[in-house]
Amino acid sequence: MRLDDDLRLAILEKVGIYSARFSIPPPVVLLTQREVLSMPKEATEGRRTTAYKYYGVSYLAENLIFINVRKIPDERALESTIVHELVHMRFPYLSHGRRFSRLVRRGLRGARFAPYARRRRAAPN
Ligand SMILES: [Zn+2]
Repeated sequence: MRLDDDLRLAILEKVGIYSARFSIPPPVVLLTQREVLSMPKEATEGRRTTAYKYYGVSYLAENLIFINVRKIPDERALESTIVHELVHMRFPYLSHGRRFSRLVRRGLRGARFAPYARRRRAAPN
């Protein structure tokens, strides 16, 4: 897709809406490879120069996502990429798989999720 100001705004709006539903702080959103490269090296370490290959990348520790607008073919793929990256933010312990995909589908349908709480082990008696 071609990134212009309208699309940029629409993406930020969507990220805001889904972040609220997912009870996560809205991440910083990068929309071009140039923006990825403009970040400090530490922030995007591991997926910096390879980010362009993907529809999206999440940098969990930095609360940062890259939505690769240029590579994304249409509105539908854009929306699911946004939700995919935000599911990474809300469910940091999950990797790709059936459960992950189900959460993306639920997110796309407008599901809300309570804030992430790290599970604590029960204290031994
Ligand atoms: Zn992913």
